[in-house]
Amino acid sequence: MSDVICGIDLGTTNSCLALLRDGRPEPVIIEEGSAIVPSIVSLDDATGRIIVGRQALNRFAAFPHHTVRSIKRLMGKETHVKLGDRSYSPEEISSFILSYLVTAGAAVIGSEIRRVVITVPAYFNEAQRRSTIKAGELAGLEVVRIINEPTAASLLYENCEDEGGENETNSPCILVYDLGGGTFDVSILEVKGEIKEVLASCGDSALGGDDFDERLIAHFLRHIREQSGYDFSDDQDRALHSRLKAVAEQAKITLSDAPYARISEVAVTVMNGEPVNLELELSRREYEEMIDDLVARTMEKVEEALKEAHLEADDIARIILVGGSTRTPLVQERLEQLFERTVSFSVDPDLCVALGASVQHGLITGESVGHILIDVTAHSLGMKTNDSFDPETGDADYFSRIIRRNTAIPVRKAEVYYTNYDNQDRVEVEVFQGESESCRENALIGAFPYPLKPAPSGASVVVEFAYDKEGLIHIILEQKGYDNRKEVTLDIRTNQVTVRDEAVAEGKITNYMVSKGRKLAQRSDAPQKMRDELSALLDEYVAALESNDDEETIDSLEERLLELMDELEDAATGE
Ligand code: ADP
Ligand code: MG
Repeated sequence: MSDVICGIDLGTTNSCLALLRDGRPEPVIIEEGSAIVPSIVSLDDATGRIIVGRQALNRFAAFPHHTVRSIKRLMGKETHVKLGDRSYSPEEISSFILSYLVTAGAAVIGSEIRRVVITVPAYFNEAQRRSTIKAGELAGLEVVRIINEPTAASLLYENCEDEGGENETNSPCILVYDLGGGTFDVSILEVKGEIKEVLASCGDSALGGDDFDERLIAHFLRHIREQSGYDFSDDQDRALHSRLKAVAEQAKITLSDAPYARISEVAVTVMNGEPVNLELELSRREYEEMIDDLVARTMEKVEEALKEAHLEADDIARIILVGGSTRTPLVQERLEQLFERTVSFSVDPDLCVALGASVQHGLITGESVGHILIDVTAHSLGMKTNDSFDPETGDADYFSRIIRRNTAIPVRKAEVYYTNYDNQDRVEVEVFQGESESCRENALIGAFPYPLKPAPSGASVVVEFAYDKEGLIHIILEQKGYDNRKEVTLDIRTNQVTVRDEAVAEGKITNYMVSKGRKLAQRSDAPQKMRDELSALLDEYVAALESNDDEETIDSLEERLLELMDELEDAATGE
């Protein structure tokens, strides 16, 4: 049987394994429906077993001295990390991550994995590269080649059929903007046929999504102080910090696609025997203010890289976005301002490095690599707003983009708009597709009225667009705080409008307890009977929340839930 051709993105925060199958790269789904594996390693003292990935992440709060993250920062250094009373070199820790990826991956694809291409940052020196090869060898792998992460990403885009982010220039230069969990890298590559030369590589090894989380955590702690008077800002409580970090990360991810995030967390900690809850709503705008200076710092690095390569923004033919944090709309916005063009990604920014590494492996072994077909939106989708309202002509023609051109589908995005005057009784919604700022120059897809409930001027209306492979746009409008929701479906191909005018039960349950409980109920290493009991209790709890049951009922359900979740966690074997 021929060898499996695969590539590994061994990241600081997350790692990913990809496979070239019939000339097409695909991610290998390893954990909980995800190809993304946290680069975290933990030692289980009791059994002496090494635990990697999401399970290790779950252990971080409870066993901080047995768990290590971001080991990539130590690669190439003569140092050791301690897990409990055992000591490991950075190569050994990295080899545990690699072993886990290939073992779990092999189980998924049903064949053994022996040879791999592994990616490293462009700035990695020889010692760091050698250290990465050693990690591969310790994991029993043959490292066919080490390649630069930006090069891997660019390889993928080269084999991609979209024209995303392309500029009207013959320049052979590509800029790769990579904002991950803890690091930021920007590289400029020059493509000379098969060869790609790194012209410039800058970055900040202490800047990434983790810093965004920290800003949110600080905001949460301020909020708790204002609400309860308790000040935890100097608290060294790691359990509280990791709980808040999980909440922050979830809120951040929500805000990448929606204008608001509702945070409703029961008992983030306990003070004087009383639970301290975290209950607030955060707008994308507030969040963007919190992280604005961090994003600005990355832009300075982009300019530095351009200078180093003796290039102007216009000389860059393509901008490639890599790393989970590039999903943040503010990042794309700031890049668009700098480069004066639309910037988007058509390949998942979390996966493109690993996918590109598998393409590289294919090229090395002489495998023919086919074009990667990605379903993307051919045009931007949005609606008419009155940003450029001209009182003389009564002209309101501004096209407000909700889904950008070249976004991979299916996609779901939401924006917020505001009413113009008191008691405005309706909005005439007009949906367009195209790239011009003027609706007149774009194509009208459909129009319908949205009646409003009486409210003061400036009332928020959240508009969500979901676009799927069938060419349907589902639009959900919601007048915030007024229990006024409308769903409409537009068919792009036939311009047909279908309106669903029912009052939809409001709000999804974004409760931490529910999400955690659901995950626990799926743990195959826990007794089935307890899992069933937990599922049933969760259903009862969600139903109680949805029907706005009295506080007492909800409290007692919560208590039972917490108890059962604890018991289940204890009973789980950690397999
Ligand atoms: P690394 O290359 O450092 O291993 P990744 O590229 O995996 O890191 O990026 C991880 C970071 O991306 C984390 O901080 C995570 O919270 C962030 N992230 C993931 N998804 C989103 C999203 N939808 N919006 C904003 N940030 C996100
Ligand atoms: Mg990365």
